[in-house]
Amino acid sequence: APPSTDYATYCQPRLTEMMGIVGLDKHYFQGEGSRIRYRGADGAEREVIDFLGGYGSTLLGHNHPELIRHAIANLQGNMVHHGQLSVRAHAGQLGRRLSEHLHAATGRRFMVLQANSGAEAVELALKAAEFAKRARISQALKRIETELYASSCAAQAGKRLRAGDLEAIRALVAGGGDASPAELFGALERYNRRAAAARPMLLGLRRGFHGKTTGALQLTHNEAYRAPFERLGTPVRFLDPGDLAAADEAIADSEVSLYSVTDSAGELRLSKSAFSNIAAFFAEPIQGEGGIHPLDAGYLQRIRERADRHDFPLVLDEIQTGMGRTGTLFYAEQLGVRGDFYLLGKSLGGALAKISAIMVDEQWYEPDFGLLHSSTFAEDDYSSSMACRVLDVMASEGILQQCADKGRLLGVMLRELQQRYPDVIREVRGVGLLIGLEFVPREDGSPTLRDIFMEGRLGYIIAGYLLNKHGIRVAPTLSSPATIRLEPSALIGPDECRRLLDALALVCEILRRQNAYELTNY
Ligand code: PMP
Repeated sequence: APPSTDYATYCQPRLTEMMGIVGLDKHYFQGEGSRIRYRGADGAEREVIDFLGGYGSTLLGHNHPELIRHAIANLQGNMVHHGQLSVRAHAGQLGRRLSEHLHAATGRRFMVLQANSGAEAVELALKAAEFAKRARISQALKRIETELYASSCAAQAGKRLRAGDLEAIRALVAGGGDASPAELFGALERYNRRAAAARPMLLGLRRGFHGKTTGALQLTHNEAYRAPFERLGTPVRFLDPGDLAAADEAIADSEVSLYSVTDSAGELRLSKSAFSNIAAFFAEPIQGEGGIHPLDAGYLQRIRERADRHDFPLVLDEIQTGMGRTGTLFYAEQLGVRGDFYLLGKSLGGALAKISAIMVDEQWYEPDFGLLHSSTFAEDDYSSSMACRVLDVMASEGILQQCADKGRLLGVMLRELQQRYPDVIREVRGVGLLIGLEFVPREDGSPTLRDIFMEGRLGYIIAGYLLNKHGIRVAPTLSSPATIRLEPSALIGPDECRRLLDALALVCEILRRQNAYELTNY
């Protein structure tokens, strides 16, 4: 039986069927650099150039020899894999390196926490942000309660409230005219506690993608993924990227007021302190799964200013853009925008370890948080040590420069193609080796192709054609299925890029002629 039989029977019936329809149901049994291999139906081996790159996780290629050597040395050296409740020395080293890098880039100090997947890093960031916000709210509440207690004593001793303030408190707590000052102070305290317990607001962006665990999914804009599970999590307010007025409106809506009574200038006065109840603002500096849309640096900078003014953390999800793919370790470095949190995943483990990490500005790091969050698999020596070696290889092989140079070249080639086929390719977007190619539907063309487009299958059909006909592996972005993502390894060569371009030119010809048959029969 072909390998797909067990997979379809025991794991993924619907997906296997869908992959079968477009010819993507291959088992890749070997990979080296930017090439991977499968066996065709006739049993013959076929080699494929990998432009999908593990959805962004194989920046150093498949089975990078230096990483394989390091992994084997770790295993043969009987490294302890599960040494929980001990000093995780390799996690410490990785933390130091990532933190030092961000310190040099931003001048701030960062703590580094580990998780096992991208979505789990998002969970970690959500929890750490909420924990810190809550600690700040509790502190404010404590200060106000101390003030209220002192003022209540003063009131009982006969000190008077400023004219009008008694009525204001009554209106606030809906206290009747016969309530005593002591009762009103108690009601005010209860009012504050209720206000402080309000659920936090999370801000995300339209087209945003942050993974698929129940928490992270709330931040993933795509309805198809989110809606079936939206009852499970904290609702997120989605903003249009670039729309500052919408951000300001959300910030205003998130405001919570706490009230105190303070003793000043010989009388008791009602005072209000407001805070923004936004637990975090999540953004990918280039929206990856949403179709490779770079965010405007000016917009992010304005959000940064608002984050400072209203005391909420800006979380930069660099799970897809980070680890050098855009030419710098973090893409935000090129934008000149500072995050309070940075998230990494994908290539951090060199495609040989499952590891993700979050970097938290010390200002948002509560030491107790580390005691509350843990995972059996996180901070393990093996994954941490692999990630450290990934950073070594990146330095010794000039990976950042390679990503920048090769990305620029590939971008130029693709933009040339777009100019030759503007009726087929709407736009080429991206930075470095994170490039999206958005195809356009044709109003007057083949009904079959329009149907395929409307159902969100065009990118998958193109992927099947490129794979089976030209030995090139690509896929669409998850939330924008007419955008082909190109995320090859930094080891990709000019000949491989040329082969991609030749094959894409044929796709463009076919789409210009609206020949659905040719695209699906190879
Ligand atoms: N955030 C971003 C920006 C991503 O691109 C992804 C994955 N595509 C995730 C989070 C989730 O990562 P994972 O699939 O490892 O859970």
